Amino acid sequence: MVILVTGASGQLGQSIQFIASNYADCEFIFASSQDLDITNQDRVNNFFDTNKINFCINAAAYTAVDKAESETEKAEAINVVGPKNLAIACKKNNAKLIHISTDFVFDGASNKPYSETDETNPLNIYGKTKLDGEQAVRDNIDEYFIIRTSWVYSQFGNNFMKTMLRLASERDSLSIVSDQIGSPTNAVDLAKAIMQIVSHTERSRSANTQYGIYNFSNEGIASWYDFAVEIFKINNVVIDVNPIPTEAFPTPAKRPKYSLLDKSKIKNTFGIEIKTWQESLLQT
Ligand code: NDP
Repeated sequence: MVILVTGASGQLGQSIQFIASNYADCEFIFASSQDLDITNQDRVNNFFDTNKINFCINAAAYTAVDKAESETEKAEAINVVGPKNLAIACKKNNAKLIHISTDFVFDGASNKPYSETDETNPLNIYGKTKLDGEQAVRDNIDEYFIIRTSWVYSQFGNNFMKTMLRLASERDSLSIVSDQIGSPTNAVDLAKAIMQIVSHTERSRSANTQYGIYNFSNEGIASWYDFAVEIFKINNVVIDVNPIPTEAFPTPAKRPKYSLLDKSKIKNTFGIEIKTWQESLLQT
């Protein structure tokens, strides 16, 4: 089975590379943005023509949430046109597409974890482009999985955990937002869940495959403040951390106050077991 991973140098892309040797029956093609620019339709089509691909995992994205407010066209190209190109090429070549989306498709007005069927209403440009990207996938291929995830961190690339550890080495105290609630996701756990979906789909052969949208994050609930405190605790970093409201830390992009994801569907459909975010952070 040949699996194309786009955006291979990003956090998720590198996390899939990290676990790839556990899947001896899979041949991976890891394509960075230099190898394959997903916004270039001809390049995407040629890539699929020259490589026999069975699964495409789209780990490529425009992820600069605040910058997207001013770089809307670039965000749209990568988050909407890119997945559309991949969906069309996958369909033409009989490949299945696993596309990654975000909790930021929701507005945070809910008081219970979001299920896959809950109404979307993105508050910022990034969330809107990701939602439009989901639609572009759904419009162009039937054999797709869209995985919505949240607060992704890893030992690779840039993320909240790395930023916290860097800031702690530069400052004596930090003020962290405590009224935005969600759940961190270890990118390696996400990578493993994606590969479980690939294996399950391969085993079940088309008849029983339940394509569609799935939520995935680690279990448990946190604010950014809680997440920061836990990061410092397990790394033995001693620093004053102060909880602050969102209003005290204004950002160009508005963020949902609540974006916890209900993971029942992915657990029940694929038998995926999910660690708590604290347990997973400890293993990073
Ligand atoms: P990263 O920002 O770490 O990686 C994204 C990758 O996409 C980069 O390697 C980048 O390459 C690549 N890329 C950008 N433009 C193109 C292009 N035109 N063609 C091909 N590749 C391109 O993202 P993550 O790994 O953190 O995110 C993975 C997925 O998870 C994304 O879909 C994201 O929206 C989603 N997600 C992420 C969250 C997070 O907190 N990070 C939260 C919720 C969802 P280069 O570096 O060369 O530009």
